Amino acid sequence: MSKLIEVFAGHGLSASGSYDSGAVNVHYEMSETLMTWRIVGAMKGMWDSSSLPQVSTLTPEVRLHCFPYPMSLDRKIKTVNRDRPYLGIDVHLNAPLDPADNINRGTEVLCYSLAGKSGKCARVFQRHLLEALRGTLLGGLDRGVKVRQDLRFITKTQPSTIITESEFITCNEVARALRDTDLVNKIAQAHILAILEIGGWK
Ligand SMILES: [Zn+2]
Repeated sequence: MSKLIEVFAGHGLSASGSYDSGAVNVHYEMSETLMTWRIVGAMKGMWDSSSLPQVSTLTPEVRLHCFPYPMSLDRKIKTVNRDRPYLGIDVHLNAPLDPADNINRGTEVLCYSLAGKSGKCARVFQRHLLEALRGTLLGGLDRGVKVRQDLRFITKTQPSTIITESEFITCNEVARALRDTDLVNKIAQAHILAILEIGGWK
């Protein structure tokens, strides 16, 4: 049986339909949602063109639906609960609680429970993201897989969803590095490789 996996770009629209930029890096004029659209768009491109050799061998077992455009959180939740994918992923770039904080760094993946399927999937994403980022300027600092039962995308969806936070867009060093298309593609490719590994599970 083929597995449906759905990928959303973090932020985009608020509940009222207004623009939701997510975290913003003022110094580099970069918004989280514009970058997450780029990552999810790159994933769709890699998948549709089968530009990764692994994609063509596994594609029949995995159906990937990428949504590289603005959607409200409510619509993402409705979409997941309607389609009930094997896994739903909301792609984000992290921000510290204090927006003036320009030092937070690293990669983390958020899930509903470490023991459940979301935790198992989150660990696969974390590993692929760290592998991809270790060879880059960003270095790939491991913040680990975290349980977050306060986030609606994770708690209001069935059956399994995760949130990836590849790096901190608020950190100037990260924002500068993310201007490089190769780095955006590496993050997109890491997501695809994680999906292929999960899609191959029997
Ligand atoms: Zn976010």
